[in-house]
Amino acid sequence: MSSPDAKHAFHPLRIAEVVRETADASSFVFEVPPPLEALFRYAPGQFLTFEVPFQNMRLHRCYSLSSAPECDAQPKVTVKRIERGRVSNWFNDELRAGSTLDVKPPEGLFVLRREEADRPLVMFAGGSGVTPVMSLVKSALLTTRRRVKLVYANRDRASIIFRDELESWRARFPERLAVAHHLDVEQGFMHAAHVKDAFVGLEHADFYICGPGPFMDIVEASLEERRVGSGGHVFIERFVSPTEPGPSRRPTPSPRE
Ligand SMILES: Cc1cc2nc3c(=O)[nH]c(=O)nc-3n(C[C@H](O)[C@H](O)[C@H](O)COP(=O)(O)OP(=O)(O)OC[C@H]3O[C@@H](n4cnc5c(N)ncnc54)[C@H](O)[C@@H]3O)c2cc1C
Repeated sequence: MSSPDAKHAFHPLRIAEVVRETADASSFVFEVPPPLEALFRYAPGQFLTFEVPFQNMRLHRCYSLSSAPECDAQPKVTVKRIERGRVSNWFNDELRAGSTLDVKPPEGLFVLRREEADRPLVMFAGGSGVTPVMSLVKSALLTTRRRVKLVYANRDRASIIFRDELESWRARFPERLAVAHHLDVEQGFMHAAHVKDAFVGLEHADFYICGPGPFMDIVEASLEERRVGSGGHVFIERFVSPTEPGPSRRPTPSPRE
């Protein structure tokens, strides 16, 4: 068994594969060596924390797992570039299969509640917020009988991460998975009326929300206004960068090959 300290430490993991998802997002699949397998076991919806060299600092960033243990052999995260973002661009520009990163084992409470066997799931994802949602969708389809509705907002069609993968899950589970794409270029930013339309008839669902701040605020406020999801049925994952750490205590070269 691993020590409690190991759960909070960073461990070197090698990238097995880099998958270009869209012009500004890539997925990174990791090899977990047998001695670390137990530590890196995860629940769908959880995230990994990376320690990344940047100038004279080591920055910490969380990235949600887009893989699901029930169908993906190796853990995978998906990182979308943020304008002038230090780590998201570094991932997309510098990392290759064979690079090694320092990674903290999975954490997070944005997970399925297994006791809610009959409650449908309504997921609102915006942009890279689809990452943990993708993991939850796959797991819910494979391990429960719950109906799943995904409302997925993006700037335009080209920026939809996992578009084909979602379509193949929809084709495999046509009675249980519905995917409603919202494109800003066609419909403008998502607003309250879109949100309310999306949950008609599903007011008794568990709701999962992940995306840019203003997107999440609109969804949360629209649910609250209709008193939908009250009593602990709304789950939110906020994507934020932590405050800056102090200077690095170790030399920090670029990603190790
Ligand atoms: C639990 C969790 C899960 C997450 N999962 C994902 C995921 O699956 N996929 C994903 O893509 N992201 C995810 N994120 C977000 C991710 O952790 C990072 O916050 C994101 O990639 C941005 O990091 P960055 O280093 O690129 O940007 P940063 O360098 O932190 O910059 C963030 C913003 O601040 C601005 N900025 C930076 N430096 C300055 C400065 N000196 N002055 C003024 N403005 C500045 C940048 O322009 C940018 O807009 C998650 C976050 C959390 C907390």
